[in-house]
Amino acid sequence: MMTEDIKKKIRDIVGPDNVLDSELDRFGYSYDSSFVPLVPANKPDLVVRPTTTDEVSQVMAIASEYEIPVTPRGAATGRTGGSIPVKGGISLALDRMTKIVELDERNMMVTAEAGIRTFDLYNACAAKGLFYPPDPASWKYSTIGGNVAENSGGMRAVKYGVTKNYVMGLEVVLADGSILRTGGKMIKNVTGYDLTSLFVGSEGTLGVITNVLLRLISMPKKRGTLQIMFRSLDDGCRMIHDMLQDGIVPAASEIMDDICLGVAARRRNIDLPDGAKSAVIIEIDGEDESSLESQTTRIANVARSCEALVFRAAASEKEADELWSIRRGMSSAVATLAPNRFSEDIPVPRDAFPEVVRRIKKIAQKYGFLIAVYGHAGDGNLHPSILCDISKPGEEEKVHHAIEEIFAASLSLGGTLSGEHGIGITKQPYFANAVGEVAVRTMKAVKAALDPKGILNPGKIWL
Ligand SMILES: Cc1cc2nc3c(=O)[nH]c(=O)nc-3n(C[C@H](O)[C@H](O)[C@H](O)COP(=O)(O)OP(=O)(O)OC[C@H]3O[C@@H](n4cnc5c(N)ncnc54)[C@H](O)[C@@H]3O)c2cc1C
Repeated sequence: MMTEDIKKKIRDIVGPDNVLDSELDRFGYSYDSSFVPLVPANKPDLVVRPTTTDEVSQVMAIASEYEIPVTPRGAATGRTGGSIPVKGGISLALDRMTKIVELDERNMMVTAEAGIRTFDLYNACAAKGLFYPPDPASWKYSTIGGNVAENSGGMRAVKYGVTKNYVMGLEVVLADGSILRTGGKMIKNVTGYDLTSLFVGSEGTLGVITNVLLRLISMPKKRGTLQIMFRSLDDGCRMIHDMLQDGIVPAASEIMDDICLGVAARRRNIDLPDGAKSAVIIEIDGEDESSLESQTTRIANVARSCEALVFRAAASEKEADELWSIRRGMSSAVATLAPNRFSEDIPVPRDAFPEVVRRIKKIAQKYGFLIAVYGHAGDGNLHPSILCDISKPGEEEKVHHAIEEIFAASLSLGGTLSGEHGIGITKQPYFANAVGEVAVRTMKAVKAALDPKGILNPGKIWL
């Protein structure tokens, strides 16, 4: 129970300006970028915006003493409701902790506070010729802490991996306020359990990440963007599959179906070629022009064998940026197509990608929905978006059946529920079935050991 006395103690720690409790402020922290409906009960009692690890630690010590729920929050771009404070208590916003603590060029590593935006961190490293590859489409807004907590991926995952492949160490404030430091700059480290990995993807349920140590690589010297259009979605999927089978690993390779193409064309006044039903956007990179040229030739050959309708290499950086901004803006563009949209995030083994797309389109036909399909085809991670109007009688129930069938399709092809958005609230009903009873029991044991009072992001991941 949040009393005036507790509020005063917290104000004394972080300063009065960094504690918000007006109705409007609390409302502003009651939702995120998921499709969870607005509910008054999801308002936090207090919003707390610390600036140092020590402040986070003191706030957690108070929360632990009074058993107050704490929901860590980055930029609230999460897609599964992770930062929604479903049990009230404190919304702990890390968005004021934005410093780069150290950019270690010799070891090619960066230490940053958890609230820094992904794009700002990327740019700070790029200015020194260093490359932080994970690039979620939300990177202009999302925070590094949120990326770690969700183990976010991005367009470049196909070649460079996801957030976990770059996290070398963390500073984490535990539920009781103690400060844990894991990992370090050593490339090899088997000194006890791998606690760093434990917190990656933990969705704010095991600790509050305050500092992140990330590995960097050299920035590729050259980049190129290719756009390829096909007469069917199947041809686009086949092309990506054949390209990877041929040993060509582009930096990114994204697919969009005809629904996505249509909305992008309308919003940007682009004329689509007749018969275009899918588009693939590919980024290639390398050390010099000749490496780009040879990759382009090989990819063009594969595209031709899959009966590509259009093959175009972006002629300038501006053109390439335009193509990628279409892809980055796809989620918001698709959302304009119907009163409601339910977007999923299913990963399957790469060779199952064409089949899962086929099955999703069949599910769309069965329920009479439009399901827009786009995603990171190169790494087998798909974002099917169900477009619907849940004010129609029976529509919401149909959506839930369709989602269940999408998950069942993914599981039966060796995939799972989430490739990058986590479980949060929205995937809870399907979680136990996907991972099995022993996994749920093991995860709950870890949670109980680290957060015995259950104050950290309660009401998430499992029901
Ligand atoms: C348009 C759009 C496009 C997107 N594209 C992608 C994409 O390509 N790839 C991808 O992976 N995701 C994508 N996302 C999802 C989202 O951006 C990521 O999950 C991102 O990592 C969330 O970061 P955030 O700072 O907004 O975290 P929030 O949404 O604030 O929080 C997400 C979760 O992390 C926890 N958390 C946040 N900060 C901390 C911390 N410091 N310590 C402990 N826990 C914390 C929260 O409690 C919550 O459970 C997209 C979202 C949108 C809206």
